[in-house]
Amino acid sequence: MILQLEKNIENKAVQHILEKVNGVGYKASIVKTQSLQYIIGVGKKEFDIRAIGILPGVHDVHRVTDDYKLVNRKRKVSGTTISLGDGVEIGESNFSVITGPCSVESEEQIVKIVEHMRQQGLKLMRGGVFKPRSSPYAFRGLGIEGLKMFSAIAKDYGIKIVTEVMEIEQITQMHDYVDVFQVGARNSQNFNLLHELGNVDKPILLKRGLSGTIEELLQSAEYIYSNGNEKIILCERGIRTYEKAYRNTLDLNAVPILKEKTHLPVVVDPSHGIGIREHVEQMSLAALMAGADGVSIEIHEKPEEALSDGQQTLNFIESAELNRKLKIAYEARIAMRG
Ligand code: PEP
Ligand code: MN
Repeated sequence: MILQLEKNIENKAVQHILEKVNGVGYKASIVKTQSLQYIIGVGKKEFDIRAIGILPGVHDVHRVTDDYKLVNRKRKVSGTTISLGDGVEIGESNFSVITGPCSVESEEQIVKIVEHMRQQGLKLMRGGVFKPRSSPYAFRGLGIEGLKMFSAIAKDYGIKIVTEVMEIEQITQMHDYVDVFQVGARNSQNFNLLHELGNVDKPILLKRGLSGTIEELLQSAEYIYSNGNEKIILCERGIRTYEKAYRNTLDLNAVPILKEKTHLPVVVDPSHGIGIREHVEQMSLAALMAGADGVSIEIHEKPEEALSDGQQTLNFIESAELNRKLKIAYEARIAMRG
């Protein structure tokens, strides 16, 4: 059970509600987010939910038996839109195209990409400075100095930055230079990191784990939400299966299922999902048609020279072509929905 409390509720009323929730045999916890206050009741007993709904200070009450509660669509029917400022939004009101390199490599590389993005009218840029690499000998990113450079250039161009945070200690040092913190697939169940990101006042793009289920992804989002941060974007980036013909199995089934189960925005990362440059376009269009709220695409002026993931990275011509097709497909999607 989830109770959303009135904004100006007094402590006495909160205590009274807690007693009543415990009284019907549910274990009650208070959750305070940056904007609202909730009581989460965990239990199985049948009871008349109206008896709780009429208590003074209760804004609304929902019966949600799933383990993920605050992120659940059963609690909030309308999709959540996340605002990044300057009119940039991620959610059901538009289709977000996040583009940028796998890794931030140099000032020259970033300038080339933002110039391309400006030409294309793209406002959301990805780029890792702390890179989770399977090999310790691979390029592991430029670190915080690289982020400062990346952020300064992006700001000049009015572009918002999405970049990966790998550990708790990095949150504070990165904070002023990022617009969205990305949690990568390998940290999708790093519960300590997720908990800390609940304290952050910036949105989180949470990727699905390498072998994470949809339910596990939603529970990871609940970790962030229940510690205070309601601004979460989920990302399907492919899962590991027995198939070896491509990098990961991009699970586009997850898109409609997630959209049904949660009110949070859902984006798809076809670059990591299929891992093959030639097929990123088809899978991006498929993600859009599956109902995603956006895509995250790796691009580079010269993909063959990229320090990481060049094999799945689009050049500027391919990126422009994809952008053109996404716009057409988005119009078609709107027309089909009527
Ligand atoms: C990335 O997006 O830079 C990345 C490392 O992806 P993932 O965590 O999905 O592997
Ligand atoms: Mn990559």
